[in-house]
Amino acid sequence: MSEPQRFIPVYRPWIDEREAEAARRPILSGWVTMGPEVEAFEKEFAAYTGAHHACAVSSCTTALHLGLLAVGVGPGSEVITVSHTFIATANSVRFCLATPVFVDIQPDTFNMDPDLIEQAITPRTKAILCVHQIGMPCDMKAILAVAKRHSLPVVEDAACGIGSEILCNGEWDKIGKPHGDVCCFSFHPRKLLTTGDGGMITTSNAAWDERFRRLRHHGMNVTTTVRHQARRVIFESYPETAFNYRMTDIQAAVGREQLKRLPDLIRQRRLMAERYRGKLEGIPGLKAPREPAWARSNWQSYCVRLSEDLDQQQVMQQLLDKGVATRRGIMCIHREQAYADLPCRWPLRESESAQEHCVLLPLYHQMTERDQDYVVEQLAKVVAMAPAR
Ligand SMILES: *Cc1c(COP(=O)(O)O)cnc(C)c1O
Repeated sequence: MSEPQRFIPVYRPWIDEREAEAARRPILSGWVTMGPEVEAFEKEFAAYTGAHHACAVSSCTTALHLGLLAVGVGPGSEVITVSHTFIATANSVRFCLATPVFVDIQPDTFNMDPDLIEQAITPRTKAILCVHQIGMPCDMKAILAVAKRHSLPVVEDAACGIGSEILCNGEWDKIGKPHGDVCCFSFHPRKLLTTGDGGMITTSNAAWDERFRRLRHHGMNVTTTVRHQARRVIFESYPETAFNYRMTDIQAAVGREQLKRLPDLIRQRRLMAERYRGKLEGIPGLKAPREPAWARSNWQSYCVRLSEDLDQQQVMQQLLDKGVATRRGIMCIHREQAYADLPCRWPLRESESAQEHCVLLPLYHQMTERDQDYVVEQLAKVVAMAPAR
């Protein structure tokens, strides 16, 4: 096998000197966690998403844990969610000693099928946890209608959803306003805004926001800033058992720079997605993703569906041999050993089919039109050469 002439990764964060320079501030100031950078990042993030409150935490997984606790999920509760997502979605439910109940997805958006929620509701159901998968907004209107009928809170897993938009009453809202009760974001390097690791929780509920701030900080009833600025001695107390889910000021300083790049990053990704679409549409055996009329995706991942006669692994291997990295469709949690003990209440055919027949193509800010053309060219060749099964 000859060496590939080039290598095109699936993703690469857009981060450079500006973030490195920003990280100097907290380091040289000596205030490196839960200080002014975290506060400023929260305010700027809230302004960006249009949220009343934004609370920074250590990851989206920990954000989801706190979000579920706030809306009342606890031991014995059931939470309706999807299997076709990253495993952290369901793990956060188990952190609350609750049980995830998986419903199937819509094949075109890879998101929770709102028509399947009602049948999954039992007296133990305490929340709906929907996922804006790979940046594509969920059908929040339909999900919220079911939630309202049954007085259930909605937690949004927007790990990949920063900057995606949804049409509400004639206006384009950012994901995270939030449309449900609580919305959780990830700043892992595979997502569009990165702080290395990190997360954010947005809500309109001031009491929940205050609780998130206590729970992320060992349950302490006094914030670091208040104690630091106090001119009178304050004794803190600990009303409930909690966690260390803090974000550092070094991460927050990086996040503030990343936030400034976000509009350009998303504009560019949307152009590139459009370009992919134009080029892929003519290739037999492939189906390019499409946005519903009420959604604008940030295209955190660009997910192409292969026709059923194509061998997914073989297609991916042949692309890799040509220097094009891909990833298979999003995982199905119910197929993992960690969830083998959880009985599925019904088949999850669309979830399994999306995992088996989809491929995520490279899409990152620094990718050139030539890189993109190369990916399409190689994909077209591989698909055309694939033996019929
Ligand atoms: C990445 C991801 C998470 C986990 O985010 P972390 O910040 O790594 O904890 C959760 N849910 C979904 C859908 C994700 O893609």
